Amino acid sequence: MGNKKNTILVIEDEKPIRKVFGIALESANHKVVECDNGREGIRLTTSVRPDLILLDLGLPDIDGKEVITAVREWSQVPIIVCSVRNHDEEVIKALSLGADDYITKPFNPDVLLARVLANLRKAVNLEAGDPELTNGTIRMDLVRHEVYINGEKTSFTPKEYELLRYFMINRGKMLTHKQILKDVWGNAHADDVQYLRVYVSQVRDKIEADPTNAIYIITEPGIGYRMENVNSNPNWTHKP
Ligand code: CA
Repeated sequence: MGNKKNTILVIEDEKPIRKVFGIALESANHKVVECDNGREGIRLTTSVRPDLILLDLGLPDIDGKEVITAVREWSQVPIIVCSVRNHDEEVIKALSLGADDYITKPFNPDVLLARVLANLRKAVNLEAGDPELTNGTIRMDLVRHEVYINGEKTSFTPKEYELLRYFMINRGKMLTHKQILKDVWGNAHADDVQYLRVYVSQVRDKIEADPTNAIYIITEPGIGYRMENVNSNPNWTHKP
């Protein structure tokens, strides 16, 4: 990420977890600011201006979801929620309030760093307005509205194109069904999960070497989808 150190604000009341976060983030050359309650977290967001926030939902003073609401009144800083396993409902609520992603505790430090990087990169991409998106064997030319899969021009319907672009821009990030439907199809379709499944399957048929064993668009059961960052794939055999 160049020479600039990103500042990560960690809002987490359990000291051992803060310590693990700190070690992992500092090893990746991030600057870490931490606190153990929600109100101080909100205050630090305004004073420190972090590049990303790691937020525990179960805090001693206020609920982590209240922190999201307060921060989103004035800032679009990426927020990654840290939740305990099997709390899907809580995660979906947090995402709908404006959190960008989540990781479950206990977490793998490599997964944590990948999520942090993906969300920082997303924020940079939004500012830069890159005219071309690439991920593994997928290349999208946003100026000409063309998609190349493994170097071969492939045709997409306008909605398939929009959906693929949405996944490419948000790659690495957890996206809820509702969020995707609202952003790609509009509010009226926010609950048409079946509709989304059909389109995801059509897009997979075009981008995946083996659509039944997807490596790009990963299903997050009960929550939504995530597009993984994929290295170029030398074993590509699929021909649509
Ligand atoms: Ca906690």
